[in-house]
Amino acid sequence: MYLFVIDHPYHYEAENLCRVFFPFDKVVTLRDPAEAGAPQARTVYTAIRDERYIVRVEDEDGETAREEDRIAEDEYGLMSLLFSALRAHTGKTPRWGMLTGIHPIKLLRQLTERYGAEEANRLFRERYFVSEEKAALAARTLKSQTPVTLDVRENDYSLYISVPFCPTRCAYCSFVSQSVEKTKKQIPEYHALLLREIEATAETAKALGLTLRSVYVGGGTPTTFSAEQLAMLIRTVRASFDLSKCAEFTVEAGRPDTIDRAKLEALLSGGVTRISINPQTLQDNVLENIGRRHTAQQTVEAFRLAREVGFTNINMDLIVGLPGDTFESFCDTIEKVLALDPENVTVHSLALKRSSRITQSGEINRAHADAALADRMMAYAEKRLTEHGFEPYYLYRQSRMAGNLENTGWAKPGFVCAYNIFTMDETETVLACGAGGVSKLKDPYSEDLTRIFNFKYSYEYISRYGEILERKEGIGRQYEQFRKRIH
Ligand code: SF4
Repeated sequence: MYLFVIDHPYHYEAENLCRVFFPFDKVVTLRDPAEAGAPQARTVYTAIRDERYIVRVEDEDGETAREEDRIAEDEYGLMSLLFSALRAHTGKTPRWGMLTGIHPIKLLRQLTERYGAEEANRLFRERYFVSEEKAALAARTLKSQTPVTLDVRENDYSLYISVPFCPTRCAYCSFVSQSVEKTKKQIPEYHALLLREIEATAETAKALGLTLRSVYVGGGTPTTFSAEQLAMLIRTVRASFDLSKCAEFTVEAGRPDTIDRAKLEALLSGGVTRISINPQTLQDNVLENIGRRHTAQQTVEAFRLAREVGFTNINMDLIVGLPGDTFESFCDTIEKVLALDPENVTVHSLALKRSSRITQSGEINRAHADAALADRMMAYAEKRLTEHGFEPYYLYRQSRMAGNLENTGWAKPGFVCAYNIFTMDETETVLACGAGGVSKLKDPYSEDLTRIFNFKYSYEYISRYGEILERKEGIGRQYEQFRKRIH
């Protein structure tokens, strides 16, 4: 599709909104209609003309929707018109309305701080067109996360450690490379450098007088490391950081085919307080469709083993919209997960990334057609988790999600994962180590965030390790800036 962006700066917002309605169209953005080449199935025209916003949507049969209004001070006015035009053109009202950002709960928090809960909720529904049920889900999530965000102090931070290796590549994954077998050979060198980066990061945090509140080891699949490598990693964290104020230490055990007793014991005896064992689905045929080379029974056994070893806080990730999953089989998965009685359940919507195998193989069309099914599955999960005493406590969105829905973390009372809240609400600094890690430095006196990126892939991380340490020197400089602003 063509998107014309004429004489206004909101091309990014307009593109994102077009993708909400047409997640699988290639959006070609042009500043001038004269630049257009071959006709496209649809054209969206957005412009400022004579102090007015103008939006038009056209398809092969001509103009199907048109909106016009006086210009406003921010992008809201134009995006609101674009939303109305696209809604009229498609006859669809997305459940999250015109919200396209990753962090809707952060927006709700900011609105609540400014206008109070009732008005914030009204704005969510009437200004941003969020549906009744998603506004209610957002309000519940905000309520659960508030005690955690209110407890954040000026110098608090969390530590993220990335282990970007997996036993095989899932069909929906855009993160790890195709050649997982090849990258596995890099593990010993990566592990050694990672420990060095952890030590260097601890030095930086100590010099700045920061207080560590939570540790999260994610991936990839951290339990691709051997029991010895995991034990060394945890020992290094414990020896380098002051953990006296750190109440939470999570390791994603991720795929059941990487879990054994020795690894679980290494994690527990090292002081890990929370792990994730991620079924995604408990249907063998669906597991096969997504290229996870383990069975549902292996997930159940890994979970039971973790309980036997002594873990009392376990998360299980599920995905709505997987190829081959029916409403009945998804409900069966939910019931089986509830029977295991984990403390956290995270329900994701399948995000259809361009580089994933599932997208490239054309499965994407089927998933798109099943948006209504994804919606039903999500509603069922919400109902059953609520009935079992879970509350939503963090929530985020991605582009190209099945049904244009959301990812929600659910927790039993007393089991919220503070790290997940900190990262999604961007409440406190996160220092990240390892490939793909992004350190987010939060100005304690405003909503400003500064990001420092590590290299994405393990081979770059290894070959350009020196550059990462140089980039990280920016942490100290940025904190000086934060502190200067206030003093
Ligand atoms: S476990 Fe996660 S990171 Fe690993 S291949 Fe599957 S989706 Fe990708």
